Amino acid sequence: MSAKTILQIKNLDISFRTNAGVVHAIRGINLDLQKGETVAIVGESGSGKSVTMKAAVGLLDSNATVNSGEILYTYDDGHGQDKTVDLLKLSKKQLRTEYNGQRLAMVFQDPMASLNPRKKVGDIISEGMDIHHRFANRQEREEKISEMLKKVGLSPEHAARYPHQFSGGQRQRVGIARALIMNPKLIIADECISALDVSIQAQVINLLHDLQERMGLTYLFIAHDLNIVKYISDRIAVMYLGSMVELATSDELYANTLHPYSKALLSAVPIPDPKLEAQKKRQIIEGDVPSPINKPKGCAFSSRCPLACDKCRQSAPTLKEAAPGHFVACHLVEAQS
Ligand code: SF4
Repeated sequence: MSAKTILQIKNLDISFRTNAGVVHAIRGINLDLQKGETVAIVGESGSGKSVTMKAAVGLLDSNATVNSGEILYTYDDGHGQDKTVDLLKLSKKQLRTEYNGQRLAMVFQDPMASLNPRKKVGDIISEGMDIHHRFANRQEREEKISEMLKKVGLSPEHAARYPHQFSGGQRQRVGIARALIMNPKLIIADECISALDVSIQAQVINLLHDLQERMGLTYLFIAHDLNIVKYISDRIAVMYLGSMVELATSDELYANTLHPYSKALLSAVPIPDPKLEAQKKRQIIEGDVPSPINKPKGCAFSSRCPLACDKCRQSAPTLKEAAPGHFVACHLVEAQS
């Protein structure tokens, strides 16, 4: 592991017991996050991106089994030494009390649903501080809340208001303030801007960028479309039916998309210029993601891929480096020699 690696997902493999049988939700994925980096995991519903996120924060459902793997989180122990823990080995209580909020924190998709409507915003933001008694007195608590509200572009007066008195974008700022109050270094953002209007999305992305620079944050974004993560991600991992099918820097992925599934996801992203949009060749993928119980033989994407051949239906491609730092799992893409 590099000295700068903050999170390392190693060979993560997870299944679920369901009434219909065992669902293999995550199939041996690997992903590293470097300190200060933003990585997005993108895929449709059923791709496994949310299960990966839940595993990292101890929110896996009780019917889940981790078949193998580690999620190694490295942090400064407060004495200048790096400490590494396997988040999968921590109890839910340890994750909740020692890690979530303090060392890693989450920003949720729907700010209205994740904020208690009966609590004032100041009390919502200070939840973590209150639980861990991170202030000497009431005045210090109020000062920390005011400072955090200002950091996310709100004003100290907002602390006395309730969530319903805010717009959607402002509520997401409250959610971000709540996540940051304990000064975590890793933020896991679950579709955190997809519910917002496009103009507000840009504002929240700018805010996240700004906070990243000022606070040295590392972000793991979970998203269902490539458009949303384009401007914030350093690297993007595309997942399909529990496997990673492409991983590259954001610039490389948009300029040199290799996997047919990523191409289809990208062709669904509208281009702002109407002329270019009209000229664009759209690559529609038919149907929905198959159930993981009935995963196609061979390449998991073969039932929807316009380029599928016999080999694709027989054997599953593995993730190979096709260009420096650009990994893809497709039989039609040559690996770098
Ligand atoms: Fe399509 Fe075959 Fe590549 Fe799978 S391996 S993505 S089916 S071309």
